[in-house]
Amino acid sequence: MLSLLFTDDPKQSLRMLRHLAAILSLLAFTIACAFFFHKGLIFASEETFTSILLLFWAGFLSFTVIIRSGLNQRFKDPSLTVAQLLWGATFLLTSIYLMNEWRGLMLMAYFAMFSFGFFKLPFRELLSVALYGILGYALIILYLFLKEPERLDIELELLQLLAFSITLSVMVYTGSSIHRLRTRARNQYVALQQALDLNSRLATTDDLTGLYNRRYFMEMLSTQKAVAERSESDFVLCFCDLDHFKHINDTFGHHTGDIVLQQFATILNNTIREIDYAARFGGEEFVILLVNTDIEDAKKVSERIRQRLAEYNFSDIAPALNATVSIGLASFKEFNTIQETLMTADDRMFKAKEQGRNKVVFDDAEVVAG
Ligand code: GH3
Ligand code: MG
Ligand code: MG
Repeated sequence: MLSLLFTDDPKQSLRMLRHLAAILSLLAFTIACAFFFHKGLIFASEETFTSILLLFWAGFLSFTVIIRSGLNQRFKDPSLTVAQLLWGATFLLTSIYLMNEWRGLMLMAYFAMFSFGFFKLPFRELLSVALYGILGYALIILYLFLKEPERLDIELELLQLLAFSITLSVMVYTGSSIHRLRTRARNQYVALQQALDLNSRLATTDDLTGLYNRRYFMEMLSTQKAVAERSESDFVLCFCDLDHFKHINDTFGHHTGDIVLQQFATILNNTIREIDYAARFGGEEFVILLVNTDIEDAKKVSERIRQRLAEYNFSDIAPALNATVSIGLASFKEFNTIQETLMTADDRMFKAKEQGRNKVVFDDAEVVAG
């Protein structure tokens, strides 16, 4: 039964829930009308009265169908609040017209109905529903006064109209203020969320290259250590240091140096897999974590990185510019501590420098290329 009315979409379910609350109120109102009819307070034949009730119920149940089918999502306000309120208002105005001089009682129901939009609708929508009620009621009084004056006490009706208009106007004012406050609170929440996102991005990434920063990388490293310890897998750390970077800065300027750093970051991102991590450790030093990788595969990846940078054509920035990198590798399972692995990769990077730079060193004796 519930699945007949509700879908998996929580927003749609909330709309349906609100609609059902409106239906429940309509039911109460229908029972009240039936009671009034039974007491002879409604000027209509049983047939007319039943047809009117059926017509309005059919209208309301079409809202149920529209919301359940998802058609409501095509509208600017998918809750269809204003449409449902106007339909309810039409029903109330019709009963007001049909009632005897006790019709003022029905105005109470208008307030109850109005409260469905009270916390939700902006000024213009609230005003339109209020005006619809006030003008509708005024027209009914005018019509009855001209055509069936015996059915109303004009002074009483005018007083009621005045009280109804004033109360609704105050409700429009307070309701739209609430709406404004809610909108402001929502906007502030969104701004706060964006600030938090930015904050967490800044806390994890390096500004210049967009790679992870040292702090975040060290956190990731502990996670990967735990994974490697629990499984058969190993990971490799690659310590990269750009060669003669000070010379690049001195010769081509700091800005060009920055572009080289960014280009190297792009090469890293394009060479490693999605699951790997590359971080800027500081200055012109970078570290890569190759997840679930042995030293043989890490050699290939590092060699590719070394080669891509060495072959990269910087001629559009500075014709004589070229950059190289020295890389040292160490696998975690060789040492079993983060500190040792990192230090060894760093030592091997220095070894690559000693052996002439633009090289990859993966153990304490051998040099793979350059
Ligand atoms: P080696 O081959 O031995 O590594 O020599 P090197 O010149 O690369 O090493 P050194 O440590 O002497 O110089 C590193 C330079 O990197 C010095 C510093 O000004 C520069 N640097 C550090 N951070 C940045 C940065 O964000 N942008 C630029 N353009 N340069 C930077
Ligand atoms: Mg350095
Ligand atoms: Mg350097």
